[in-house]
Amino acid sequence: MASFSIDQQPIEFEPGQTILQAAMAAGVYIPHLCFHPQFSAHGSCRVCMVRIDGRTASACTAPAAAGLEVENLSDDLQALRRDILQMLFVEGNHLCPSCEQSGACHLQSVAEFCELLMADLPFQYPRRMVDASHPDWVLDFTRCIHCELCVKASREVDGKSVFSLTGRGFDTRLVINAPDGLLVNSEFASTDRAASVCPVGVFLPKHQGFKTPIGQRKYDRHSIEQITEE
Ligand code: SF4
Repeated sequence: MASFSIDQQPIEFEPGQTILQAAMAAGVYIPHLCFHPQFSAHGSCRVCMVRIDGRTASACTAPAAAGLEVENLSDDLQALRRDILQMLFVEGNHLCPSCEQSGACHLQSVAEFCELLMADLPFQYPRRMVDASHPDWVLDFTRCIHCELCVKASREVDGKSVFSLTGRGFDTRLVINAPDGLLVNSEFASTDRAASVCPVGVFLPKHQGFKTPIGQRKYDRHSIEQITEE
């Protein structure tokens, strides 16, 4: 099999794999947020940025090729990731200690892996909608990082189109495709894949808050690099 290297470690790959897919198959962790192995790459969050033969690129979209030398966990790339993660934290309302997803949140656990301890940038505290119209789900849009995973899951797995992203830059927002924009009047069902793919705490099931105590959740028990995505 052909191979390339990540931080001097040889990684074999199949034709057609990206650097991130080959790394995941080899058990090598490249920090990432908007990528999920079940879906096509979005390439928007830039957290999986690596240096390939001296040039920076997103590992989720860069094709693997024989002989490439890839830098992943160098100090400067980790510092760049901390800058990106900081911007995501301050652009939303990520109040980790009071969030139901604390300990099960990708953003929080990737930040821990990258050793982001606090944000130096001013928090924006955006005013975004909370949709509690559905009998079983609350959607707290204040935490959305616009990764598009729920959009893809609804379209590609659930065979619906419940969610869309609209706007650009700071004005990007997630909308619900329903006549009045409310979840209860959309085609959403609790069993939809879209309900379980969010990497942050937007989708919150009602009636079972903090069922697993904080401190005993998956990323409380293991670092994100050791956990296979569901
Ligand atoms: S709600 Fe969650 S899955 Fe959907 S775009 Fe926002 S962060 Fe991504």
